[in-house]
Amino acid sequence: MLVGVRKEADDRKEDPLDFALWKSAKPGEPSWPSPWGPGRPGWHIECSAMNYHYFGESIDIHGGGNDLIFPHHENEIAQSESFTGKPFARYWIHNGMLQLRGEKMSKSIGNIISIDEFLEHHSADSFRYLILNSAYRNPIIFSEEVLAQAERGLERLRSAFQPANPSATGAPQEVLDELRSQTETTREGFIASMDDDFNSAGALGQLFELVRMINIARDSGATDAELEPAQAMLRELTGVFGLLLNEPKADQNQAAADPFIQLLIDLRTELRKQKNWELSDKVRDRLAELGVVLEDGKDGTRWHWA
Ligand SMILES: [Zn+2]
Repeated sequence: MLVGVRKEADDRKEDPLDFALWKSAKPGEPSWPSPWGPGRPGWHIECSAMNYHYFGESIDIHGGGNDLIFPHHENEIAQSESFTGKPFARYWIHNGMLQLRGEKMSKSIGNIISIDEFLEHHSADSFRYLILNSAYRNPIIFSEEVLAQAERGLERLRSAFQPANPSATGAPQEVLDELRSQTETTREGFIASMDDDFNSAGALGQLFELVRMINIARDSGATDAELEPAQAMLRELTGVFGLLLNEPKADQNQAAADPFIQLLIDLRTELRKQKNWELSDKVRDRLAELGVVLEDGKDGTRWHWA
């Protein structure tokens, strides 16, 4: 913005802040004839022209990276509104840049991880989670630590879809009432968060409230039928985010073992109730040898493959 600082002021400009709608042809570049000589449209005018052609004089939402605010979007506004006399866009949604080790990912620096490379080592869900769990206007920090956090969040979401305990005979009425009201609260909270400038991190937080209540209900003996409406709501809302929530790389044999592992965990829970610590620890240790890790929490025992 300072005259003559970054490069010499162009003497073809009446004002240093002027920008070109039409670029004069340089040797070897594609060009078209025009009243101002052979050339091509400037970059900014391309966007205004496409917008005008496909969407009309005014659009509702214009997106883009926050590195485009100046000069690109300011110039788009200037030329489009001069032409139509109408507001160009009602809302501007500018996203922050993805950062790797404190630097913006950029082709010129060479610190780029392509989506394909990412998917060789991680699930698509973990990338979605990473994006959703940050405010879109802020820079997104990409690191192994943040990814591990995303994996833990996904695992927690998946935990809500586990079936009822085999011995379930129904949860107490007050638990079911709470589950029903949490289902509704989560839906309303999710919508309110998304209405608040796409606060997806807040909306994710709402989902965890429902996850917590579903897991409490299951541990209180809720049947599949009792869990189903809350799980359906959770599936709908995670679906809004495009989260698939597939089990990570669980092979068929492992999946087939699930009900038997759950059976052992239920038996161990009984043993713990009877304060038979020796045998309950033995079950945990033997499962650990088989690669099954148990985690005892106040909502009961969960497990995952090591
Ligand atoms: Zn543009």
